[in-house]
Order: sequence, then C-alpha cells, then structure tokens
Amino acid sequence: MTSYTELGLVNTKELFKKAVSGGYAIPAYNFNNMEQMQAIIQACVETKSPVILQVSSGARKYANQNILKNMARGAVEYAHELGYDIPIVLHLDHGDSFELCKDCIETGFSSVMIDGSHLPYDENVALTKKVCEFAHSQKDYVTVEGELGVLAGVEDDVSSEQSHYTQPEEVIDFVSKTKVDSLAISIGTSHGRTKFKPEQCTRGPGGILIPPPLRFDILEEIEKKIPGFPIVLHGSSSVPIEYVQIIEKYGGKLTDSVGIPEEQLRKAAKSAVCKINIDSDGRLAMTAAIRTVFYEKTDEFDPRKYLGPARDELKKLYAHKNQNVLGSAGQA
Ligand SMILES: [Zn+2]
Repeated sequence: MTSYTELGLVNTKELFKKAVSGGYAIPAYNFNNMEQMQAIIQACVETKSPVILQVSSGARKYANQNILKNMARGAVEYAHELGYDIPIVLHLDHGDSFELCKDCIETGFSSVMIDGSHLPYDENVALTKKVCEFAHSQKDYVTVEGELGVLAGVEDDVSSEQSHYTQPEEVIDFVSKTKVDSLAISIGTSHGRTKFKPEQCTRGPGGILIPPPLRFDILEEIEKKIPGFPIVLHGSSSVPIEYVQIIEKYGGKLTDSVGIPEEQLRKAAKSAVCKINIDSDGRLAMTAAIRTVFYEKTDEFDPRKYLGPARDELKKLYAHKNQNVLGSAGQA
C-alpha cells in the first residue's frame, strides 16, 4: 500500500479552491506512455501550471497500474529536474466500481472519479457515497469526482449513444448526500473526435462542421444551486482542423471530426468549471506528427525519430491549452 504523499503528489482540494476563485481550470491530460507523460510535464513546467495526470481503466490495462504509478513518481522528479515543482495529481478517470477506486487509492492515486452516471439516481448516490467514505478516511485525504448527467460519445471503455444533460435540481441533493469533492456535469461536451453528428451542426466555409454551443444556461443554473462548488467538464477536446487535415493529407481518414470550440472552453474555465479533460486533441497531435514523419522520411524506422516529434507536438499543444484556453499558466 502506497500513499500519494510518498510519491510527491497532491489531491485536488486546494487546486480547485484556487481555480474556482481565480477563474481558470486545471488541465486533466490522459497518459498511457512515457512520451505523453514527458510532454505533459514539459508543457506544464514551462507554463508554470498545476496538472492532473489522468489514467483511464483502458490506460491501466494498456500500461499496468504499477508502471503508471511509478511514472507519476517519475513525473514529480522530472518536474523538479526541469527546475520548477508544479503540483501534480494522479487521478483515476471514469472509475466504474468501488473496488477499482479502492485499488487505485491503495496504489497511490491522489484522486479518483467514480462514474455512476449511467445508474439510476439513488444507486449513483449510494455508490459515490461509499467511495467518498473510503477515500476521505485515508490517512492522506483522497479527493473524489462524481458525475451527474451522461455524455455522448466513446472514450476507452466508456460509451453512450445519447447525452442526457445534468438536471440542476438534482445537484444539491447529490453533493450533500455523497460528500463528493467535485462534480462532472453534462452540458453538451462529448467524448471522442466526433462530438456531434453532422445533422446537429451547421456547415462553415469548405463544409467544415460548426457544432451547437454548450448549454451555458444549465451551467449557470447549477452554479446558482451550489455556488463555488468545483465543476468538471469531460470530453473537452477542440479537435483542431489543422491536425485532422495533416492526418488526412498523409493517408488517414477522420470523417466528420468536430470538437468544442476553444472560446467556449475559455468561457467555461472562467466559471466554477475548475477541471477540463482533454484527451482526443493529444491523440490527434501525436498522430499528425507521426504520419508526417512516415510520409516524409520513408526509410525511417527508429521509433525515437517519430515518437520524439510526436512528443514535441503534444508539448506545444498542451502549452497552448494552458496559456490560451484553460488559463492555468502561471498558477503553479
Ligand atoms: Zn470522460
């Protein structure tokens, strides 16, 4: 059994308090391998941003949780070596059972999400409460994220055909009964790179899909019910058209890609939204860089020569997110 403090990590408590009052959001970037971890830490050290290293259950299966734990420890030391000790959280994304959350907490995670959003309301309350009781009673307090409302889209093991917006009238009851530390809500974001069906969008120049706006009215209702309570947005990649075009130019096919415009995320980050999850954009950045190398240097077969540029592109993307979208730059 390992406590996260032994790894040099922090929970989200103080970070969220400062983010809500400061009008910015903490980045939650997913990682599965060394290059992603390095890019995240390089970008966040350079921009002096706190960061949430996020692990999905798919990442645990892919990389092994003990390896990920030790990579998080390595991330803390790496930031120190780069010259600036930023606060780093190790967070379980979309925990689907009490046992999984418990296992992660005992492995050294400083924060977990229990996602009971697909369950009937009372079962979601009961499951979330059980995880909170366990997490909060640890020697070092582990923070818990719950979810109300369902996001559409596919993300690793999480998928849903349709979205269901969070119902503002449920949030006070949910937060007070479960004692969660933060709440993920559904206001129109979505998992994956095709966040909306073409028929939900309008078309811009060149046939580019323009998505419907986020439901800021629902966010405002929720903020009125639980003022200052930390809110989380999942599925908040912007799916940059530049990356989609590079990937398609070099042989890929990413039909009907559409994300959440960055201005809308910037607006959300200024509210009680204090954690924004970004995964698909990182996947696109790496894939665009790798396809470019494969196309331009057909005799290249050293993995460092394509994973290196992919890491550089990812770092550039995340530095941009911290500075221009989330507003977390300079807050560490
Ligand atoms: Zn998610």
